[in-house]
Amino acid sequence: MLEKMEENFDPETIIEEFEALSKDAERVQRETLEKILEENGETEYLQRSGLNGRTDPNSFKAFVPLVTHKDLEPYIQRIADGHSPSILTSKPITTISLSSGTTQGKPKFVPFNDELMESTMQIYKTSFAFRNREYPIGNGKALQFIYSSKQFKTKGGLTAGTATTNVYRNSQFKKTMKAMQTPCCSPDEVIFGPDFHQSLYCHLLCGLIFKDQVQVVSSTFAHSIVHAFRTFEQVWEELVDNIRNGILSSQITVTSIRLSMGKILKPDPILADKIYDKCLGLSNWYGLIKELFPNTKYVYGIMTGSMEPYLNKLRHYAGGLPLLSADYGASEGWIGANVNPKLPPELATFAVLPNIGYFEFIPLKEGLNGQDPVGLTEVENGEEYEIIVTNFAGLYRYRLGDIVKIKGFHNSTPELQFICRSNLLLTINIDKNTEKDLQLSVEAAAKLLSEEKQEVVDFTSRVDLSTDPGHYVIFWEISGELNDLVLEKCCNCLDTSFVDAGYVSSRKVNAIGPLELGIVKKGTFHKILDHYVGLGAAVSQFKTPRCVGNTNVVVLQILSSNVVKSYFSTAF
Ligand code: AMP
Repeated sequence: MLEKMEENFDPETIIEEFEALSKDAERVQRETLEKILEENGETEYLQRSGLNGRTDPNSFKAFVPLVTHKDLEPYIQRIADGHSPSILTSKPITTISLSSGTTQGKPKFVPFNDELMESTMQIYKTSFAFRNREYPIGNGKALQFIYSSKQFKTKGGLTAGTATTNVYRNSQFKKTMKAMQTPCCSPDEVIFGPDFHQSLYCHLLCGLIFKDQVQVVSSTFAHSIVHAFRTFEQVWEELVDNIRNGILSSQITVTSIRLSMGKILKPDPILADKIYDKCLGLSNWYGLIKELFPNTKYVYGIMTGSMEPYLNKLRHYAGGLPLLSADYGASEGWIGANVNPKLPPELATFAVLPNIGYFEFIPLKEGLNGQDPVGLTEVENGEEYEIIVTNFAGLYRYRLGDIVKIKGFHNSTPELQFICRSNLLLTINIDKNTEKDLQLSVEAAAKLLSEEKQEVVDFTSRVDLSTDPGHYVIFWEISGELNDLVLEKCCNCLDTSFVDAGYVSSRKVNAIGPLELGIVKKGTFHKILDHYVGLGAAVSQFKTPRCVGNTNVVVLQILSSNVVKSYFSTAF
């Protein structure tokens, strides 16, 4: 199927297929559910549900429970351990994706299979087809800031890696990029290199070598593009020198990267002069992307949700080039394509592809809380919902944990706007930390305090984006007197106790700054309670907000005006 799509990849055909699917979204949803349940009816999971071969939406809802990742963990673990094949899917699962979700303080395992790969390519092609109508690109290359994490084998011999790694490693990814006329500038050795800094440097170098062929500058999440060009500001002279002499920086020590770059890098003083002059001509690096890569048609990546804070900087670097926000999905599977590429990222929506999974929506409207989920074509415009996914990779009525808002319909399929994670507290770029993660981190650090016979009276947190890079601030009210030595240790412990891979890797490359521990005056949390009670909250039901949003000005003011001392982590 995929092979056939590669050969015949014609954007207009893809659009026609999408139009047909979206016109008939209700029927397509029913058929998709039927197909998923027919294929997997004999699995242990569906057998246990008592569905007994039924494949209609009503029976599905009646027999199969809503679940979270935690509920599925024992099943997925058994698959990873190599136990009997037909646990969640009839076809054996051969690959596991590691999601950045850190519900229990560790990354989640989710099944990955050919069908997920196929729907990934379908969504890439669908949004590409719509983009290409508005911003056509010719034969060229993409400067893609993409990085792969290490893959490893689970106990049962399954390959495991982040979902993006599983996609990049799949031969279909390269073929699709080629079919979309945007193969990556950089060789595989750079994408799959073991050292993030070295890969980033070489991505930049490859981009410069192929500067006139670059048509698209992209990454999965917009933050990586901003981070890449911030790095460029530091290393541009060295990059220019490398091009002038045809000699790769001695900082690049990975043999496979050196070998592959050796085939691309040749002395080119004329190109070096050109880049040098361009850089000197820029004012505060405004328009860097447009000037250095003059044939770029647009900048592309996920720019919604937690990526929005980077839009200003991205616009600065892009210098008027269009910013196009990429699609919506998760390690668990894709959901919607951006079929309105002309909308600015702040207004981006995602049209659900009704054949890649079966989707349900829990209404969040006041008064409807706790109501049964509704189907894809039953959602109401303007309302917010929690999304539930059933897919071809063994997830049945799975709560993804995202809140979306309906922003109209494309034919009969809804267009979703991403609102937030339902339980996410702390996020700056690719990091994702929940209330639970914060709690685990505070618990670990509080142990050091308890050795001094002191305790944490209450705590909360915030993300501070007024510094560059942004960082986490954790506020503690403690029972005893300040002891600098102990609190410094506590601060480092808080920082290192966030084990989310996105956080740790961002801290290592300083894409997130040192964690700040702010000790507040005794009684501060009482003042916060008073504030909420003043707004009408019931004391018996009051819960300290564990994360204070930047719009919650009063509480932020209470906190910041009561900080008696701040400590910054030196852990990374
Ligand atoms: P992960 O599987 O760990 O990469 O994270 C998936 C999560 O990232 C989703 O559940 C969303 O919360 C978020 N996400 C993915 N795509 C988008 C998007 N286009 N806009 C906003 N958030 C997104």
